Amino acid sequence: MRYWIGLGSNLGDPAAHVKTALTELSSQPGISLRRVSRMYRTAPWGHRDQPDFVNAVVALDSPQEPMVMLGRLQDIEGRMGRVRSGRRWGPRLIDLDVLLAGDLILHLERLVVPHPQMHRRRFVLMPMAEIDPGLVIPARGRVQHLLQGLPESGVSVVDTD
Ligand code: ATP
Ligand code: CA
Ligand code: CA
Repeated sequence: MRYWIGLGSNLGDPAAHVKTALTELSSQPGISLRRVSRMYRTAPWGHRDQPDFVNAVVALDSPQEPMVMLGRLQDIEGRMGRVRSGRRWGPRLIDLDVLLAGDLILHLERLVVPHPQMHRRRFVLMPMAEIDPGLVIPARGRVQHLLQGLPESGVSVVDTD
């Protein structure tokens, strides 16, 4: 199954944390990274009193079921030292979300796919569009089209040289 995973960090050196998470993902058995976006810097979303976010997305192939994939992502978050403070959208070392799991639509207690906010988030849609502008989010539409409907906001590509 083709998964799209969103990565984000806004603590310490966020770009380094995103890279570490990508390395962790690629070393998991049964996960093959296919495409990795550039990194995007975003002014904080939700609570504004925190550092900029760095976000990226990755397309990967895996035979694992969505709940197993979510568990893998949470293991990586835990290994990297993410502490769950209970405050959603607060500062975090690393955040790994399941954006898409093939064309599945799931409403499980711990997993909603497509990710319920992704179609409203530039920092998700921009890196997805970079990889595949024609991609369709089930029940939402084409990434490129969704992006055109969003207000301008401060999302920019991170310079990595
Ligand atoms: P958001 O989901 O709006 O991006 P967040 O990533 O900050 O917010 P978390 O605190 O990381 O939220 O996760 C809260 C819970 O969301 C997790 O415990 C997980 O069970 C649940 N969840 C539901 N759908 C998903 C999904 N598609 N990907 C990751 N977690 C999900
Ligand atoms: Ca998230
Ligand atoms: Ca999350």
